[in-house]
Amino acid sequence: MIDWSELQRANRAEQRRLQDHLLGRYVREYLYPFSPYYRRLFDDNGVRPEQIRTVDDLRRIPLTQKLDLLATPEDPQRFKQFILQPDPATIKAAWPLRKKLPLLWQKWTQGAAAVRRTVQREFSPCFMTFTTGRSADPVPFFYSPHDIQNLHDTGARLVDVMRLPSDYRIANVFPYAPHLAFWQVFFAGQETGMMALSTGGGKVMGSTGDLRAITRLRADALIGVPGYVYHLLRKAVSDGLDLSSIRCVVLGAERVPPGLKDKISQLLRQAGAGEVRVFGTYGFTEARMAFAECPTRDNEYTGYHLYPDLAIFEVIDPATGEVLPDGEDGELVFTPLRARASTVFRYRTGDRVRGGIQWDPCPHCGRTVPRISSDLTRESSLKDLQLLKVKGTLVNLEDCAMLLSDMKEVEEWQIELRKKDDDPLEVDELVVHLALKDGCLKEPTAEQVRTAFKSRLEVSPNHFEFLGLDAMLQKIGMETEMKEKRFVDARPQA
Ligand SMILES: [Zn+2]
Repeated sequence: MIDWSELQRANRAEQRRLQDHLLGRYVREYLYPFSPYYRRLFDDNGVRPEQIRTVDDLRRIPLTQKLDLLATPEDPQRFKQFILQPDPATIKAAWPLRKKLPLLWQKWTQGAAAVRRTVQREFSPCFMTFTTGRSADPVPFFYSPHDIQNLHDTGARLVDVMRLPSDYRIANVFPYAPHLAFWQVFFAGQETGMMALSTGGGKVMGSTGDLRAITRLRADALIGVPGYVYHLLRKAVSDGLDLSSIRCVVLGAERVPPGLKDKISQLLRQAGAGEVRVFGTYGFTEARMAFAECPTRDNEYTGYHLYPDLAIFEVIDPATGEVLPDGEDGELVFTPLRARASTVFRYRTGDRVRGGIQWDPCPHCGRTVPRISSDLTRESSLKDLQLLKVKGTLVNLEDCAMLLSDMKEVEEWQIELRKKDDDPLEVDELVVHLALKDGCLKEPTAEQVRTAFKSRLEVSPNHFEFLGLDAMLQKIGMETEMKEKRFVDARPQA
């Protein structure tokens, strides 16, 4: 097995050979024999596990999508179909001698109970996180101790890609929840031995509590969701706190516009910090791992550095499902290579990437692993309100979010959809609520937002409402909601 330190410098052919090898084995020895869902999918489509020998063979396997995981009236616990469920008979039938011999040896020397424990450590669920959609029921994703070890490994790789020194102290302000982000940071700390303080975010300790902890810890790195991190730093500046210890900010769970990276660095400078690196990361529940950008002088977007031995990413045309050539825009599809417990395969993430996957060596760190372009539209942040029809035009709300967070005049914002006069039969109205930076003027800013909306989203706001910062923070539920309320659909149902 080639380790991470070598793998990240291996050439594309070497990486591909490794993936071919791991993929074939994974399908034959884990996915097909132990996954009720995929065994049926293969059988129904006449695919034999032996036919999957290379990454190119993946396209024989039908794609899986979110819908396939959701409960149905006939099968309210559908998620269970995706959990690898070996038993002594299937293990005996599926595993080659190379894998069975160590178990037999263990049985002779330590007894059958020891073998059971070994198998349990590999397969039995002991931990879970949930997908975060609000419209559909959350889907649980289980981890076995083997998967927890993967989370340790990817934690260490994240730290390596972001080049964080081991003596850094980390303040993790991701919301405490059964969500990947919080736990990925937690296990990264466990694996690397870095001092990590996980505050649980604003809803648990409040921004005052968080800031007290960060200043006392003299944290070097601040890690959390963009909206809350920005809120914390703004408060630190207005309270006159000293954050000179902070040298890097890691943002997760959402796409980060360049203007926000700048605003964050600027606030940190005001709080006494020197040069600060701001990183974006990418991860999702179903992957049970996260990926990061590497450091650059000007906080450029370097793309998310992948782990070719742990997962294969494809980019497909979302309309046809066809795999697209390198570098083309499309939807990301995820296939794990070392997963146990809950396992999805050729999974449509719903995330759209502009610029696809890049295979040229990273110009900043020189790593040769593939990188997903940082220009990613997350489906997870749009779940309910993704492409909303406003005034007859489809509007991608995440583009609205990028546009507003990017503007230096805008402190906080919320978008509300109403019906004119609150009449369900009337036309849609798009209302933009804004809290402006001190000294910025209402009308010119509104005009700027109006022009940007019109040219980039082809829809124009009907009203602007201006609020003070405190009222605005209350409106979006900063520190009181698990996730800030950025989009409100107040249209009465006809
Ligand atoms: Zn790099």
